[in-house]
Amino acid sequence: MSKMKLYIGASNPAKTSQMKTGDWGTEWAYVDEEKCIACGQCVTFCPEPAVELVEKGGKKVAVVDHDYCKGCWVCYTVCPVEAIRMETKDIYKL
Ligand code: SF4
Ligand code: SF4
Repeated sequence: MSKMKLYIGASNPAKTSQMKTGDWGTEWAYVDEEKCIACGQCVTFCPEPAVELVEKGGKKVAVVDHDYCKGCWVCYTVCPVEAIRMETKDIYKL
């Protein structure tokens, strides 16, 4: 009998100064801290070390590091409360 493995798309990459990916895409992710419920989905599924949960004003919220955000929209897709928006970088705005 063959075994089937199920992989969930979580990653845990490390930050390195040599592998900054923040200038790859045309957009960056931004978190609405009022809406964020700190579920950690964006942290789990972000393919880069670009999102972390931090303590702010007595609550935990997701914060995006634009040095590493490559604008892939994964966090936007998995956020259950629509707390993430994608914005075109200024240099790509007409
Ligand atoms: S857009 Fe992609 S790289 Fe940027 S924070 Fe979201 S999941 Fe991470
Ligand atoms: S997925 Fe959305 S609600 Fe959950 S931590 Fe990230 S921004 Fe906050």
